Formats: sequence, C-alpha cells, structure tokens
Amino acid sequence: MLIGVPTEIKTREYRVGLTPSGVKELCSQGHDVIIQKGAGEKIGFFDAEYQTSGAEIVETAGELWSRAQMIIKVKEPQPEETARLKPEHLLFTYLHLAAERHLTESLQNSGCTAIAYETITDHLGHLPLLAPMSEVAGRMSVQAGAHCLEIAQQGRGVLLGGVPGVAPGKVIILGGGVVGTNAAQMATGLGAEVTIFDKSPQRLRELDSQFHGRIKTCYSTTDNVQQAIAEADLIIGAVLIPGAAAPKLVTKADLGSMQKGSVIVDVAIDQGGCFETSRPTTHDDPTFIEQGIVHYCVANMPGAVARTSTLALTNATLPYICRLANAPWQTMLKQDPLFAKGLNVHRGDIFCEGVAKAFDLDF
Ligand code: NAD
Repeated sequence: MLIGVPTEIKTREYRVGLTPSGVKELCSQGHDVIIQKGAGEKIGFFDAEYQTSGAEIVETAGELWSRAQMIIKVKEPQPEETARLKPEHLLFTYLHLAAERHLTESLQNSGCTAIAYETITDHLGHLPLLAPMSEVAGRMSVQAGAHCLEIAQQGRGVLLGGVPGVAPGKVIILGGGVVGTNAAQMATGLGAEVTIFDKSPQRLRELDSQFHGRIKTCYSTTDNVQQAIAEADLIIGAVLIPGAAAPKLVTKADLGSMQKGSVIVDVAIDQGGCFETSRPTTHDDPTFIEQGIVHYCVANMPGAVARTSTLALTNATLPYICRLANAPWQTMLKQDPLFAKGLNVHRGDIFCEGVAKAFDLDF
C-alpha cells in the first residue's frame, strides 16, 4: 500500500503522523511511504532520516494527497485538506467529529473512509490511542503546576518537593485515571504530598496498591474535595465522564477558601473543565488569575512537547497502521469489532454512534 504523511497545517501543530522508525517498520512489511517535505523538521525528524528509513520525500501537499492511498495524520483535516480527500482515500487520524458538524459533512461529501484514533477501544473498554496523550498531559500538569507556583508567575512561592526541614507542597488530584495516575507519578517523584480523589472505589484500591502507600486516596464527595482544596498548593483536574461534560467539582465560591497563590491545572478543560472558573487558554498565554488563584487551562497540553507526544502517539498507532496496510480494511475491521469502533465515516455514511447521535443522523 502507498501510505502518505502530510505536514500538519493546523495552527501551532508540530506533531507528525509517523516517525522515521515507523516508516522503516512499514517499509520492511512491503509498503511504500511518502512524506511531505519538512513534515517532521520542527521536532527533529529531518527529511534525510525519513529517506534513510525508506520513505520518498514529496515536495507538496497536492502531490502527497493525490498519490497516497492511506493518509496518516495527527489532527483532524483542515478545510484545505478535506478539499483534497477522494473516495479512494483511507484517512487515519484524530477526528473528534461529534463536536464538528462542518467537518463531518465535509468527510461525508468527500466519499472517503475515515477511521478516528479516539473511538478505537480495547478489551477493557479503554481508549488505547487517546491514552498516550493523557499520559503526556498528566505528566506535564505537574511540571506546569510547579512552574505556576513560582512567585514570578503569581504563585505562592512553594517548591513542591520542599527541602530538608521544610514540608513539601500539597498536591490534590481530582480523578485517578490515566491523567491522574501520571500526574501522581510525577508529583511523588518530586517529593510532594499527594492525594488522589476518585468516584470509583475500585480505582482507589488499584491506586493504593500501585503507589505502595506513597499517596493518599480519598473518595470524591463535595465535602471531601472542599476540605482538601483549602490546604492545597496545587490542584489538578483530571476527571472524565465519557461522552459528557466534566462535572464542576470546585465552584467559584469554593475559591474563597483556598490559599492565595495556589494553583489550579485543569487538564479536563477539553471537556469543559472541572472548575467553575476555568476557561480554555493557549500555550502562548496559558494562565489567568481568579480570586488570587492561578489557573492553567491549556486545552492541547501535548502540543507543547510535540516530539515526545509524536513518539508516544506513534508507539500506539503503528500496530493499527500496519494492520490497516496489511489487509483490506473491511476484512480487518470485520475481524476486530474493537478496532471497528474507529470507523466514523465511509462513502458518506456515519458509522460511529456518538457522531450520529450528536447530529441526529442515521446510524
Ligand atoms: P480516564 O477515564 O482515564 O480517568 C478519568 C477518571 O475520573 C476516572 O478514574 C473516573 O472514575 C474519574 N471521575 C469521574 N467522575 C469523578 C468525580 N466526580 N470525582 C473524581 N473522579 C471522577 O480519563 P483521562 O484519560 O485521565 O482524562 C482525564 C481528562 O483529561 C479528560 O477530560 C481528557 O479529555 C483530558 N485530557 C486533556 C488534555 C489536555 O491537553 N488538556 C490531554 C489529554 C487528556
């Protein structure tokens, strides 16, 4: 199969759909790969490296989209890209269509087959191609929070790890899933005092066992959260209710009980955020202050560490890409219903229940 990787054109998106190592793997399995000139150069994957791995470098997006059978991307196609889609194309990327009616219609009109990373599930019901970005965001949340606690960022001047003779900072993590667990790993690594809140007693049991007493766990009720935030230096919002907006666990009024200069990192902001006072921010201007509390609410945290994020993403996507390339996709998806959940659009029809429901379309 001829596989194409275009340069991402969404503003400030520096990730790329395949690493040179991924190219080598596909070529070793008998496929041809074309990469758009400069697609990975911002994150240190240069054209020469792709060529050494077996790829052909093509000069323009036009040539790439007109030749490739399968297109591997990171972000949803932009209008310039949907205009290039043809019925023969197999598109494999993040799509998040339920929030994008216009994009959904463009994909339908193109006649292409579009498989979304984010709707593929595994046998535990988890989302294996979303997890790497949650791992990145969870680990970054502590790095961002520690920085925001510095006086220059209007934080309360607390070093999370403390020093001998001075107590460490207190970190509260709301939600003990992928983001929360990775945040806890970083925060404990820095020496902070960490408490994770979750609604699932089973998840709290697993975390307790995983961290061998290095963290505290707490059942998430309004009362328990209110008590904890009053003493916290850093609060990380990491809850998720699949398919729904994030619940508001901390209200505007609750901020009054918190210590001035303490920090909120609302990772769940891409689902509306779990703090009433959160609003989406960007890497260019990541924080704002509300009632003396520093808020960091960047909706695409992995974009800041695009090299690590690309490597983590392609570790997860490559096995699926190989399977799509090695057999007709219809056969592959028929054999694997969990992989088939990734199919969103084919020849104008919607195959993803969530997307159909969002726009009241036939499914
Ligand atoms: P996950 O499903 O692995 O974990 C969510 C956890 O929240 C679960 O353990 C669940 O039991 C818990 N939860 C649900 N309701 C709760 C409540 N009321 N109180 C406490 N815990 C509760 O999800 P995840 O992969 O960790 O993602 C968490 C959030 O981070 C999602 O909203 C996701 O979209 C977001 N995210 C944001 C970025 C970003 O760049 N901002 C990147 C990746 C993920």
